[in-house]
Amino acid sequence: MPDTIFDRILRGEVPNHTVYEDEHVLAFLDIGPLAKGHTLVIPKEAKAHLHELSDESAAAIGRALPRICRALIEVTDVDQYNILQNNGARAHQAVFHVHFHIIPKPDAAQGLKVGWPVGTLDHDEASEMAARLRELTQS
Ligand code: 5GP
Repeated sequence: MPDTIFDRILRGEVPNHTVYEDEHVLAFLDIGPLAKGHTLVIPKEAKAHLHELSDESAAAIGRALPRICRALIEVTDVDQYNILQNNGARAHQAVFHVHFHIIPKPDAAQGLKVGWPVGTLDHDEASEMAARLRELTQS
């Protein structure tokens, strides 16, 4: 996988404001925050997309996220926030090393703004799709 800015951060070549670190995970403040406290949580494992991540890294991130959220709530005094995780350029991923954004939402003007173009569910199609997905996720 080509080197990214986050690999350079992990190697200590680029400075960052670390907020959490363990064997598998590093979290640091985003350089272009959408709100004060905007944090990036990354696996130390070098994978571009979430679906490529090992169970070990995924579990470590799952453990770390709520802990970091609790600390951010305490420090920013903002208890509403979004978790954002982009995969692929079309999905707004700019850095191709897995990362979760924690973005505090202090008010309507700051933080993440989300477009949510609601569709309708075709239940026949949904039933087929869900069955196929159950097959794949349980194997
Ligand atoms: P993406 O669009 O890939 O989900 O988000 C990449 C994020 O990485 C952006 O929010 C951007 O501000 C952040 N970022 C890019 N380069 C750096 C850097 O050198 N340091 C830090 N702390 N954040 C970075």
